[in-house]
Amino acid sequence: MLKRNLRVLKWLGTTPAIAVCTACDREFKVPLDILKRVGGAVENLKLQFSEHQCKKDEADSTAD
Ligand SMILES: [Zn+2]
Repeated sequence: MLKRNLRVLKWLGTTPAIAVCTACDREFKVPLDILKRVGGAVENLKLQFSEHQCKKDEADSTAD
């Protein structure tokens, strides 16, 4: 099993706006309407993170 963590890349004040999975580098963005709600952004990111599947093979195609 892959060990993965959610790392926040961009903060809007104390609200996380963009985060990535440390295992596959997939980005998760919080929708604007959810950013306005206190606490909603964190829950949204956790939900997206828990539902995504890491695909390291496909991530390799994007060279930085
Ligand atoms: Zn992942």
